[in-house]
Amino acid sequence: FQHILPVDDDLLEKVFITVKTTGRNHLTRLPVIIRTWFQLAKKQTWFFTDTNDQHLSQVTGGHVINTNCSATHSRRALCCKMSVELDVFLETKKKWFCHVDDDNYVNVPALDELLKMYNPIGDWYLGRTSTPKPLQIRAKSQKTTFWFATGGAGFCLSRALVLKMAPISGNGKLMAIGDRIGLPDDVSVGYVIEHLLKIQLTRVEQFHSHLEPMRLIKKDLFNEQLTFSYSLDNEPNTVDVDGFNEITDPTRFLSLHCFLFPEASSCVEK
Ligand code: UDP
Ligand code: MN
Repeated sequence: FQHILPVDDDLLEKVFITVKTTGRNHLTRLPVIIRTWFQLAKKQTWFFTDTNDQHLSQVTGGHVINTNCSATHSRRALCCKMSVELDVFLETKKKWFCHVDDDNYVNVPALDELLKMYNPIGDWYLGRTSTPKPLQIRAKSQKTTFWFATGGAGFCLSRALVLKMAPISGNGKLMAIGDRIGLPDDVSVGYVIEHLLKIQLTRVEQFHSHLEPMRLIKKDLFNEQLTFSYSLDNEPNTVDVDGFNEITDPTRFLSLHCFLFPEASSCVEK
């Protein structure tokens, strides 16, 4: 079955969706997001970047936050952004925090359905792992293992959990944690939640990063998936979906969007 086109206002009133991006991706990665799933969650979605951009601010209704973190792919810069995402979330009254990368497609009604299944009063860490084993690190000369949700697949945290994280990793302290364990932002989040707070990740396999082959996701199950991704490196990894041609739609997100929501305005004249 296909979703009826969801109405922005009714869906996801409880969620704050953050898209991590960087100046050099504004014109390459964001236009397809803004044309597709962002239209279904305009009020809930905010872009966290590192560069001022009047045009982006205009096309997103001002939903851009310049984190003032450095515009590099360094661990510090990425932990800095994640840290600001979490801090800004706490300033809102939203019940759920969901983070995605700027190469993710978010299936808005599916995300809404997922969050309805959990009570945000509880501590929830919902996401997908990408490693076959938990991560092992040495902390204070003790070996410890923990799982983490891959940031590039998207993950969600309940407000109760983010409140518990705040004394440990709030207010920029996630950067210090990243420095201490020498690991990226998503791993640092997992370390805080699983290792320090002893709250376990709930595995939700419907989040997808480009670490998995996208073509393996079956068409008849597209509507149940929460996120999709792509990578256009030497060996392209994209969702297998008919629709627009590869030149018009290299990421396949336009075609995916029209598959899920054939009545969306950008899909009517194809
Ligand atoms: N990113 C960033 N600053 C950078 C490089 C990347 O904030 O200098 C963000 C980017 O916008 C994306 C995420 O980090 O949301 C992952 O980047 P990318 O997809 O390029 O690399 P990957 O880690 O997936 O190979
Ligand atoms: Mn990526």
